[in-house]
Amino acid sequence: MKSNISLSKIVLACFCVIASQASYAAEDSLNTTENKRPNILVILTDDMGYADVGFNGSTDIKTPSLDQLAAEGVVLTSAYNAHPFCGPSRAGIMTGRYPHKFGSQFNLPTSNRSGGLGVPTEEVFISKVLQDAGYKTGAIGKWHLGEEAEFHPNNRGFDDFYGFLNGGHDYFPSKYKPQYERQRKQGLNHSIFHYLRPLEHNGKEVDEKEYVTDGLSREAVNFIEKSATNKDQPFFLYMSYNAPHSPMQAKEEDMAEFPEIKDQKRKIYAGMVYAVDRGVNNIVKALKATGQYDNTLIVFFSDNGGKPNLGANNSPLRGRKGSVLEGGYRTPMFFHWPKNVPEGKTFSYPISTLDLYPTFAKLAGAKIPDNKKLDGKDVMHDLIAGSNPRPGEMIYAVRHRKGFSEAAARRDNWKIVNTGKEWQLFDVDKDKSESNDVSSKHPFIVREMIAEMEVWSWTNPQPLWFHHHEEGTMWREMGMPRFHETFNLKGDEKAH
Ligand code: CA
Repeated sequence: MKSNISLSKIVLACFCVIASQASYAAEDSLNTTENKRPNILVILTDDMGYADVGFNGSTDIKTPSLDQLAAEGVVLTSAYNAHPFCGPSRAGIMTGRYPHKFGSQFNLPTSNRSGGLGVPTEEVFISKVLQDAGYKTGAIGKWHLGEEAEFHPNNRGFDDFYGFLNGGHDYFPSKYKPQYERQRKQGLNHSIFHYLRPLEHNGKEVDEKEYVTDGLSREAVNFIEKSATNKDQPFFLYMSYNAPHSPMQAKEEDMAEFPEIKDQKRKIYAGMVYAVDRGVNNIVKALKATGQYDNTLIVFFSDNGGKPNLGANNSPLRGRKGSVLEGGYRTPMFFHWPKNVPEGKTFSYPISTLDLYPTFAKLAGAKIPDNKKLDGKDVMHDLIAGSNPRPGEMIYAVRHRKGFSEAAARRDNWKIVNTGKEWQLFDVDKDKSESNDVSSKHPFIVREMIAEMEVWSWTNPQPLWFHHHEEGTMWREMGMPRFHETFNLKGDEKAH
């Protein structure tokens, strides 16, 4: 039979394959220069509130560099983290999975070197996938995913790491260094608070002399400049600022930018955010000076919501860091990539930071390991087209508290949420501040979403660690996670 197939049919068949690929590429609208794979730059802030950057509604904090990038790109108004506090949220970014699915529901222990624990190495990080695809990879700033060698950024796909391994750091070397030295001389090595310890570069202690936010920005510029020397190798840079996370410490000159802010906490907070923005300006300048600006996708967001008691503002969202109300895990976000990501658009469909993993892998043409489980999806096409990446699908948030579990899920315009009393339903497209509970009007939607979320929750394994001993004791003594209570409260009864 084969011999009967004419040459013209073979030519026609080949043409069809080529044609279909060409039309797919055109549909994707990706306009990479000379088919080059883009650099990928993640700029992450820590505990920044929804209204703490100009482009997302701040009226008192100036962020001119971030605002400029946002104006030239797409602002995502319904972007969700996988968790409302640091460690689990970052575990989600790196693994593309809900941290609840691999026992990382809590921050790592505060004991020395996180008790030897870290995000399981079976979970291949996005950095490793991109590194294997030929990217030069760098992480700068806060890590918080494990401190022992096997969990170190250099062993999880980052060629280069400059920063600190735990959950935070003091900002002024002139102040933290003497404290550290004093305690070291007293022989307190293992119990010195990790916020005071020296920063490191690929495992070796360094003598950072600048205000830490400035030091991290300087290293990002260095990384970008070095990357430019190899034009054939794209980079992935995870620029993980610890600002504006506590301790609240700002430079006088940055606070002086805000003479109209009278509240001292807000003024310090504003100064810390402004230092990030100054750094972003230097990063953008370095990208432009090295000819890499047009071929770099920049994604900006915060790992969780802000703490108003420390000067943050989550307006108009309700709730704060740690909560499954919107203020806890919905973040300001933009995508910027000249000629590829549309300019000056707003994208209001819900997306998750879990989507970054598959999105980046696709852009890089990287191979994701066959057995790698992912909870997000490649959203680039929808972002460009302005379409909903997951119509009818849910984005979850679960936070365990003392004796009960908070839970929430977003599906299209709807959000169900239970902070320990009852299930409520909000149309968060219209009601961002979750102020008008419409659960009694839509009992079927409530029931359907609770049922779907309950199935998702029961497959979560037990946590691999707890932040404090007391947290672990509470978990065992109170029979946590007590999902039978979470999913059988008044909202569900209402629906019957
Ligand atoms: Ca955080």
